[in-house]
Amino acid sequence: MEIVDILPWQDEIRNRISDQFLNQKLPHAFLFEGPAGVGKFEFARGLAQKFLCNRFLSDTNIAPCGSCTACLLIKAGTHSDLRLIQPVDSKQIKIDQIRDLILWVGKTSLRNGLKITIVEPAEQMNQRSANALLKCLEEPAPNTMIMLLSSRAGSLLPTIRSRCQTVKFTIPSRNMALDWLSQTAPELEDPELRLDIADGIPGLALSVSNDDLKIRLQIVEAMKSVMVEKGSALSAVRLFKKPNLESILLICATLLADCVKLKLTKTDLVIKNKDIISELSTIANHCNVQFLIAAYERIGRDLKSVRGPSNPNESLLFESLMIDLGRETLL
Ligand SMILES: [Zn+2]
Repeated sequence: MEIVDILPWQDEIRNRISDQFLNQKLPHAFLFEGPAGVGKFEFARGLAQKFLCNRFLSDTNIAPCGSCTACLLIKAGTHSDLRLIQPVDSKQIKIDQIRDLILWVGKTSLRNGLKITIVEPAEQMNQRSANALLKCLEEPAPNTMIMLLSSRAGSLLPTIRSRCQTVKFTIPSRNMALDWLSQTAPELEDPELRLDIADGIPGLALSVSNDDLKIRLQIVEAMKSVMVEKGSALSAVRLFKKPNLESILLICATLLADCVKLKLTKTDLVIKNKDIISELSTIANHCNVQFLIAAYERIGRDLKSVRGPSNPNESLLFESLMIDLGRETLL
């Protein structure tokens, strides 16, 4: 028997929803809320598979079999009673996608009756799509279930939230996360470091690549060069061929946050990048804490600009950041 996408830290939620099913108290809509990388999507797909699996018709207690036609269709992403709504070639879930969904929900199921929709990430619905979906939630069609997945559920319409049953997905304990990583990816090097960098979130730890680890070393050297040794900012920037500014800024932010923590707590227990503590300590010792905090905030503004619609010149933005870090003129 294949149990699909079972994550050990979701047992309690799984049991609770199974009880709801047995007591015929399942809602028409769930809101699965929690940080990216804790396994909301895996859970939603697993739950859909459980409900649609052919064996579920005869035994509601079992996990999906993994081998019946329904399970195989889900695995192939082609089950006619499961629909996944995600942003297409843009950052938004558009109204046409929700209109299609409403039409689809209105038709009778070809299989065992239940039709399931996963909307992910739900916060990517624009206002029109959200309003259209709201109608669907207000007047739910029989035998339908909608699962909204979100890591920023606070940005959803309150009227949408109030029509869903919210289930909170939390970050598992460190031991559980490390056990899961060692079973899922036994070949993964430095799992503890990856988990630290990923804020303890196992799914994110898994996606930290060797290149991500390496580029941190390059960035901390560049920061040390301009901030401590007063080296040339332009030479530091030129070391990065085709930089992905968003990921560089995110890494700079975690490195600066570590410097602030080192400065304020005088201990390395709370920092993420423990393998480069000596470089981070050098930067922390050289700068005052106000400057480090101002630099962190400045990077937050740069990130907003890179992610926003203004399309800034990324090379110039990177250069200007490094020059200001060297000059200590961020305030
Ligand atoms: Zn099955």
